Amino acid sequence: MLNYFLNIVFMLNIIPPQKLVDYVKCPFCYRSLTAETEYVKCQTCNKIFLIYKDIILNLIEEANLDLFAINELIANQCYVKTNSLNLSIQSNDIFLWKDYYSQSRKKSIQYLSHFIKNTKNNTIFFMGSGSGKEIQYLLNFLSFKTAICIDLSLPALSLIPVRLQNKEINLGLIASDIRNSIIIPKNIPIVFTNVLHHTQDMHNVLEKYLTEKYQHILFIEPLDNFFISFLSAFGISKRIEYSGIKPGRLNIKLIRNMCKKYGYGISIKTLWSFPQDYYHKLFGNSIIIQKLFFLLINLFSDITNFIKFGNVCIGYLKKK
Ligand SMILES: [Zn+2]
Repeated sequence: MLNYFLNIVFMLNIIPPQKLVDYVKCPFCYRSLTAETEYVKCQTCNKIFLIYKDIILNLIEEANLDLFAINELIANQCYVKTNSLNLSIQSNDIFLWKDYYSQSRKKSIQYLSHFIKNTKNNTIFFMGSGSGKEIQYLLNFLSFKTAICIDLSLPALSLIPVRLQNKEINLGLIASDIRNSIIIPKNIPIVFTNVLHHTQDMHNVLEKYLTEKYQHILFIEPLDNFFISFLSAFGISKRIEYSGIKPGRLNIKLIRNMCKKYGYGISIKTLWSFPQDYYHKLFGNSIIIQKLFFLLINLFSDITNFIKFGNVCIGYLKKK
């Protein structure tokens, strides 16, 4: 095991990167990969993929990245030291479901865990997993044996074992661009959490996965509605992402049409989320006001969910 993690007692089991060839294909020619001792190779196009820090299968060739991926990668570089992440994890545990950020994510994570339970699967693909915060949140509501994490950023992926060090799960780490659908098993749930809207055309990326006939596709992503469109017409609700891209929002009508076209059933929950910086500017830091705020916004979300009106969408697309 690498020096970087020597002072950490792991309960989790990291799947040897060579074994991940059972889960993913070559991102260049979409044929199967074979494991060698030191690296992984595609027998068809002869590309060689290296193992990063003994724990990550690196399917990214930097020379072949487009400008979008490079910007995303630069914006996502994490230089958090293991020790400071440990501290941040400890404070995360203390403040979990108390601080504004985790409170604002709680309802969507609960909906997602409910959908994942319905897939009756013990292995999950996490697309655009970042440093694994959503997995940490999900494990409060759901138990599963294996998480395979796919993300563009090697530094972010390297942080997941630190974040999940006390969890008894198997962890597979793969660096790859989620715009290429390289997953081999069709029956394992594929979960996108706030990552599709980082791509230039989120509906197009989602459609790729539907054409591949994966059985369970799940997501938490920003949702479009007439109110948000109205605000963004005045430049109020639209932010530029850190990578420089203008984030997209899912359109329920487009998703429904896609599901019809490719033979998917669809379950959707909607809710309202309010940006943390605006919240603190308006309401300050009082715990009591925050409790009241979430009580009201969650109640409002429950009502508007009946007509699928919200700015966040949690979806489960199931192949018929
Ligand atoms: Zn290949």
